[in-house]
Formats: sequence, C-alpha cells, structure tokens
Amino acid sequence: MKIILLGAPGAGKGTQAEYLRKTYGIPQISTGDMLRAAVKAGTPLGLQVKSVMESGGLVTDAIIIALIEERIKAPDCASGFLFDGFPRTIPQAQALVDAGIDIDVVLEIDVPDEEIVRRLSGRRVHLASGRIYHIENKPPQRANVDDVTGEPLIQRDDDKETTIRKRLSVYHEQTKPLADFYRRASAQKKSLRFLTMSGVGDITSIRDTLKQLLAS
Ligand code: AMP
Repeated sequence: MKIILLGAPGAGKGTQAEYLRKTYGIPQISTGDMLRAAVKAGTPLGLQVKSVMESGGLVTDAIIIALIEERIKAPDCASGFLFDGFPRTIPQAQALVDAGIDIDVVLEIDVPDEEIVRRLSGRRVHLASGRIYHIENKPPQRANVDDVTGEPLIQRDDDKETTIRKRLSVYHEQTKPLADFYRRASAQKKSLRFLTMSGVGDITSIRDTLKQLLAS
C-alpha cells in the first residue's frame, strides 16, 4: 500500500499517519523528520537546509527527491510506505510519476488557516525527549516546564506565528495545487484514489471518518 498524506503543516497528518502505519504495516516517511534529524546531527545536508527550514520556506526539490529516492530503497518499504509531508510541490509529485511509483491513495486533510495558527503557535516542546505539549489542549502540569524532567519547554522557531503564516502561504502557493493534480490523476487512473476530509475535531472522530473513507 502506497499512501500520500496531503495537508497544511499542523493539519494532523502525523497523528493520522500513526493509525495508517499500524493498519497497513508500512513505514511512515516524513521528510520534515528526516531533515530535522539531519539538522540536529549537523550533517552536510543538515547545514544546507537549516536556515530555509527555520524561515518556513521549502527545501529544494532536488534535495528532497534524492532523499526520498534513497529512503524508499530500504527493505522496510518493500510492501509500501506512507509519505507524510512529501510531495510538497508539483515537480516532487512529477518525480514520483517519472520514477514509475504507483500511489494507491492520496488523502487530503483539510483544516482552516486560523485553526492551524492556533494549533501550532500553542505548541511547546521538550527538546531532549521530543515530548510535545499544547498551551490550551495539552498543557504541562506546571507552565512551561516538562512534566517528567522539570526542564524548560521551548517553542520551535517554525512554530512562531510569523513563520507559521509564511509556511501557510507557501502551502497555498506550492502544495495545495497537488490536490487538483491528484484529483485529475485519479480520474484517469482507476488504481489511484483521491480522498479528502476535514481535519477539524477530536483525533478519534477524525480517525473514524478516515476509516470509513478508506473502507468506502
Ligand atoms: P514538516 O515537519 O513536514 O512541516 O517539515 C518541516 C520543514 O522541512 C518544512 O517547513 C520545509 O522547510 C522542509 N520540508 C519538509 N518536507 C519538505 C518537502 N517535501 N519539500 C520541501 N521542503 C520540505
């Protein structure tokens, strides 16, 4: 099973990816996670992409396509994969077509911009463990400190409001057109399903909608 999750940053792709990954027994491939790991490890790739990621812009298509080409050669991708945060531009989607990679499902999770801003700007992270909190939805027991270690929580640079707005405008300009790209592709190719759903509401009801859609 080969699945693409589309949706703005903060739409909940990662959360629903967890369910899809377990259901289909496929790895979740998040280009954002791969790039953050490279930045953290200080690799040449990490040094190359750090500033563009912090500014909310997109890493070049060539870098991303090379990263994905390498990743999907790994044995865990033999029975499929779930792309989370890729493709993000038409050339990235076209690279999959050119490589003859047949996608089964493209699922778009739709969330209004203002809800995205509220979700992401409230997010706080404990850097050492990766534990994530939200000032409204999942507050720590004591303001601004990690429940387990008592260490301070931080706001990721790309979760600051100005950066979120930049990421949203990049999303509308470069990534949103992929919905039409895949809607059209699915009209021509029976094996490709394009599904779209709202990502507003609690995690369980969104997952139930997702289950129903996949079963339909
Ligand atoms: P994410 O966690 O998916 O929101 O990704 C974080 C950041 O990594 C993005 O804001 C981009 O700078 C970069 N990035 C991740 N995936 C891609 C992609 N497919 N194309 C270009 N840049 C990406």
